[in-house]
Amino acid sequence: MTINFLINLSYIVAAILFVLGLKKLGSPATARQGNLISAVGMLIAVVATLGGKGLLPWTYIIAGFVIGSAIGAFAARKVEMTGMPELVALFNGFGGAASLLVGWVATYAAGNSTFINVTIILSILIGGVTLTGSIIAWAKLSERMPTKALMFTGQQIFNVLLVLAILGSAVMFCIEPSNPVWLWAILGLSLLFGIMAVIPIGGADMPVVIALLNSYSGLAACAAGFVLHNNLLIVAGALVGASGIILTNIMCKAMNRSLSNVLFSGFGSAVTSSTKVEGEVKPITADDAYLIMEAARSVVFVPGYGMAVAQAQHVVKELADHLESNGAEVKFAIHPVAGRMPGHMNVLLAEASVPYDQLVEMDDINPQLPNVDLAVVIGANDVVNPAANKDKGSPLYGMPVIRVDEARTVFVLKRSMGSGFSGVDNPLFVGDNTRMLFGDAKQSLSHIVGEFKS
Ligand code: NDP
Repeated sequence: MTINFLINLSYIVAAILFVLGLKKLGSPATARQGNLISAVGMLIAVVATLGGKGLLPWTYIIAGFVIGSAIGAFAARKVEMTGMPELVALFNGFGGAASLLVGWVATYAAGNSTFINVTIILSILIGGVTLTGSIIAWAKLSERMPTKALMFTGQQIFNVLLVLAILGSAVMFCIEPSNPVWLWAILGLSLLFGIMAVIPIGGADMPVVIALLNSYSGLAACAAGFVLHNNLLIVAGALVGASGIILTNIMCKAMNRSLSNVLFSGFGSAVTSSTKVEGEVKPITADDAYLIMEAARSVVFVPGYGMAVAQAQHVVKELADHLESNGAEVKFAIHPVAGRMPGHMNVLLAEASVPYDQLVEMDDINPQLPNVDLAVVIGANDVVNPAANKDKGSPLYGMPVIRVDEARTVFVLKRSMGSGFSGVDNPLFVGDNTRMLFGDAKQSLSHIVGEFKS
C-alpha cells in the first residue's frame, strides 16, 4: 500500500463522514452527533493532507491542533447563544480568507496553466467577497453598524462598474500573470465588492445573507481545492456551497422573496412602515395573565429573539408542563426566521427538553390559530407582525408570519413597545384581543409559574 493510496482512502472516509454529518444535521435530535461526525471527518482530512503528504513536521501539526482547538473551544464556550450568528458570520469570513490566501500563495508557483490561473482568480474573488461581506454581516448583526439597508445614488451603476473592473483585471491577469498589478487589482476590487454586496441588504433579509455567505465560503474552498489539486477540499467546498444554497432557498421561501429581490431591492432602507400604528395598548399584569392562562384549554407559545435574550426557554418548558397538567393542549409555533439564525428556536427549545412533537411549523399552526384560546408571544416581533399580511405599504409585506392575531386572546411578552430586528412597527400590540405583558420574558414567565406552583 503506497502512502498516496492511504491518503486517498482517508479522503474517501472523510467525504463519507461529511455527508453523514450533514444528513444528521437535518434533525435537532441528531444534530449534535452530526456535528461530531463531521468534525472527525475534518480531523482525518487535515492529518492525511498535512501529515501524509509530509507538508509539515508532526510537531507543527500537533501545535496547530492544540492552538486552533483551544481558540475554537474558547470562542464556542464564551459566545452567548444570541451571539451565535455573529460567530457563524466570522467563521464564514475566515473560510473566505483562507481560500483567498491559498489562491494568493499559488501565484508564486512558476508556469501555472490558464486553468489554474482561473481557479486562482476564483479563490481570491470569492474568498475576498466572503471575507469583507461576512465582516459587514457580523457588524450589522452585532449592531456595530446600522442594521438597515444602506443605499446611495448611483449604487447599482457603481456595482456594475466594479464587476466590469474585476472581469477586466481577471482577463489581464490570465494574459500577464507575472504582472502583480492585476493580482492586487483583483484582490482590492473583490474586497470592495464584498462590502458593496452586503451594505444594501438589511432588516429582516439578513438570514438570507448569512446563508448565502456560508455558501460562498464553500465555493471559495472548492476553488482553492482546484488550485491545490486537492479532491477532498473540492468535495467539502461543494458540500458547503450546495447546502448553503439550499438553506438560502429555504430562507427566501420562508420570507416569500426571490433571491434577486433580497440582493438588489434594498429592503429595510425605510426606517418605519408607511402606516403609523395607532390604537390603545392594553397592558396586563402577570397575576391577571395567570388567571387567563389557567382557564385556557389550548395554548400556543410563539418564541422569538427575545426568548433567546432572556434565556427563558427553561421556564417556558416549566410553564408548558404546568399548563398540560392543568388539562390544556400546548404547542410551540416555530417561524423559520425567528431569532437570529436558522433553527435558533429549535436549538433553544431542544436544550430545555421540549418534546419535538410539540414543535409545530408556521404553515401547520396558522390554520389552527382561530381555534386556539391563547397565543403567548415570547420576545417575538417581526415574525408575528400582521402588517406583513395586511399592510401593502409595510416593508415586511409578503413575508409569511405566524397569525397570532387570529387566536382568541394574545399575550405579548416584551420589555417595551420597541420594534424588532427590521425596525418596523407592529399593529399586533394594539390589537383588540392583545394584552401586553411588559418586562423581561424570563421574569414574567417565572412569576406565572410561581402562581401555578402556589
Ligand atoms: P425580533 O428581532 O423581531 O423581535 C425581538 C423582540 O424581542 C424585540 O421586539 C424585543 O422587544 C424583544 N426582547 C428583547 N429582549 C427581551 C427580553 N429580555 N424579554 C422579552 N422580550 C425581549 O425577533 P423575531 O424572532 O420575531 O424575528 C427575527 C428577526 O430577525 C426577523 O426580522 C429576521 O428576519 C431577523 N433575522 C433572523 C435570522 C435568522 O436566521 N433567524 C438572522 C438574522 C436576522 P423589547 O426590546 O421591547 O423587549
